Amino acid sequence: MDPADLVLRYGDRVTHVEQVPAREAVVEPWPAWVDPGVRAMYEAEGITALWGHQAEALHHVHAGRHTVVSTGTASGKSLVFQAPALTDLAAGRTGSALRGNRMPTVLYLAPTKALAADQLRRLRGASAFARPATVDGDNSREERAWARDHANYLLTNPDTLHHSILPAHARWARVLGGLTHVVVDECHHYRGVFGAHVAHVLRRLRRVCAHYGADPTFVLSSATVADPEVFAGRLTGLDVVPVTDDASPHAARTIALWEPPIIPGVDPATPGVVRRSATSEAGELLTDLVIGGVRTLAFVRSRRGAEAVAATAQRRLGEVDPELVGRVATYRGGYLPEERRELEQRLRSGDLLGLASTNALELGIDVAGLDAVITVGFPGTRAALQQQFGRAGRSGRDSLGILVARDEPIDTYLVHHPEALLGRAVEASVFDPDNPYVLGPHLAAAAQEIPLTETDFEMFGPRAAEGVAALEAAGWLRRRAAGWFWTKRERASDLADIRSSGGAPVQIVDGVTGRLIGTVDAGSADSTVHEGAVYIHQGDVHVVDEYDLAHGVAMVHRDAPEYTTSARSVTEIAVLETERTEQWGAAAMSFGSVEVVNQVVSYLKRSTSGSGVLGEEVLELPARALQTKAVWWTLDAETVAATMEHDDVPGSAHAAEHAAIGLLPLLATCDRWDIGGVSTALHPDTGTLTVFVYDGYPGGAGFAERGYEVAATWLRVTRDAIAACACRDGCPSCVYSPKCGNGNEPLDKAGAIRLLDAFLADAPAAAPTT
Ligand SMILES: [Zn+2]
Ligand SMILES: [Zn+2]
Repeated sequence: MDPADLVLRYGDRVTHVEQVPAREAVVEPWPAWVDPGVRAMYEAEGITALWGHQAEALHHVHAGRHTVVSTGTASGKSLVFQAPALTDLAAGRTGSALRGNRMPTVLYLAPTKALAADQLRRLRGASAFARPATVDGDNSREERAWARDHANYLLTNPDTLHHSILPAHARWARVLGGLTHVVVDECHHYRGVFGAHVAHVLRRLRRVCAHYGADPTFVLSSATVADPEVFAGRLTGLDVVPVTDDASPHAARTIALWEPPIIPGVDPATPGVVRRSATSEAGELLTDLVIGGVRTLAFVRSRRGAEAVAATAQRRLGEVDPELVGRVATYRGGYLPEERRELEQRLRSGDLLGLASTNALELGIDVAGLDAVITVGFPGTRAALQQQFGRAGRSGRDSLGILVARDEPIDTYLVHHPEALLGRAVEASVFDPDNPYVLGPHLAAAAQEIPLTETDFEMFGPRAAEGVAALEAAGWLRRRAAGWFWTKRERASDLADIRSSGGAPVQIVDGVTGRLIGTVDAGSADSTVHEGAVYIHQGDVHVVDEYDLAHGVAMVHRDAPEYTTSARSVTEIAVLETERTEQWGAAAMSFGSVEVVNQVVSYLKRSTSGSGVLGEEVLELPARALQTKAVWWTLDAETVAATMEHDDVPGSAHAAEHAAIGLLPLLATCDRWDIGGVSTALHPDTGTLTVFVYDGYPGGAGFAERGYEVAATWLRVTRDAIAACACRDGCPSCVYSPKCGNGNEPLDKAGAIRLLDAFLADAPAAAPTT
């Protein structure tokens, strides 16, 4: 479909159309130092020359510089770590590159087992140089022993490194002592609390390597993010050179941004129904593309959403041309291999013209020959969006990518600010390695691996001395002449559960069948599975009969109530320590430690047929205290009085808080559920109007800190997202929050814009990344 036609046909639902021209590859020759056999292996795959960024990165890696390659999907990042690593292994085979008396080895780390397995397959052609082996929780004892004794290219994940390899490093001395390269693939996955854990696992790895005399070069690959060198440096604790100029070719693409229209005649104050739903819009769009013969894939967040998109398209097609109904299908995970192959075949042949899918597709079928991709709702990161759009594009033909906004502030912002999607990356992967809840267990694990000395403190950061002192005081470590020793029988690495976000999850069990339905995070259980809660799991509706706090279990039964529930809570926040402050005239931005005390106190039943609140039930649940990091903004009382005289001040601050939480994921790779907020017209610790945004994890996760560092940009995009929304009094696309503990009251949309303008009056200019 001609893009101009798209705008003509849909008018102002299309907020932006951009033609991204085809990019020609920048090609460089292979450097002379790459082993001829390794080069021949790539040439056999058709890689006779390198793209510019590959050559640049190889140059740095060969010179022994730690390097991060942050370029688009399918830009050949694997070659950048494989070619130098295999070259060293090839040299080791001839005995010309012994490290001390050890043969060279390579360690490859992936965030998931599936990715490591994929890398293993890609090394099949390298058997002349590499003896690769994956080491993860699935190995047999024999496989692991073979890897220890013979492998020279070890593929694993941070979990296995943390729990198995580092604690038993003496058995892995051959591998760890020979390391020439450590590869950290897809490193943007290491964010938040998980990122902080991995940062310390990598420091422990460096320490153990040094113990065996190895000093490997770290090579990291990342999706495109802001400041990859800062992120990679924090992750490894090393100086890292960034390579970001993507020189791989791509076909021309048209990108269209789409905002569902406001439903005429609906009360704009009714939450959730102000705009047409993104899935209805996508269903309609899919219909038109299928009628036009455009082979289209629609990505939808949930299975139900994908089914709804396909059903809408099929219904509408039935009215136009019944023959087309069968040419639209839904794809979900869990298909049998033969079903998947049939779908692939129908897509390739053009028999299937429209497919609505969840992201399960990423692991499921191989789609080829598509013309268009519709993405329903921003998938969280630009990299994920580019990956979805990249599914379209038959050779030599232009493709079309359409982002349909859901009713989320970040989607509203993006469809009105295409430069944030299509210009330079503004989102950064962040975490906080100094979180004491993370640091402590890794110091203990490090001490068990090799006794800690004061010279190790620098590696573990400014809070290491304090952390060691605390472990010593608690009796976990004991100081002797040679350093601090682990004193317990237990494995110190068991203290850190690197994938957990704090507390055992609550199990949801069907009280009739006894079947485990799912789990919910400890942190959100009080508000989602309290007694009487309506809990929806994969489209099935349940009501909670009993919430057993002591055992972490919620008993539910299948039901079909004509209401939904939303928990109400009270939250108090206290400033424990202000670590940094920046004054912007009458406003100030601060960052530091806080204590948040939250208590779920009741829940509201809301009719699903639109007749409003049916009632409120009181709950008796304990108050939960969380010590974490927060960013907070204050505005002096005189300025508040002068600029906000006609506004609802608490409602304005509350609305600004909601939108700001919705927009932080644009600048930090977090989810709005990773952070929380409190706003008040008068806070006892600051003496004035204050909006707090805090990390929802003990000790902090780096998101609030990123908010502080880019505060001026963050508040500007928040202001613009609210102002761009065409609703009158606020809606889910701007200031309503699906997780508000106050039932979205009070909220003052117009006041929030004035309040943010007052905050920004003397703010510094935008950071250059925007
Ligand atoms: Zn709105
Ligand atoms: Zn709220």
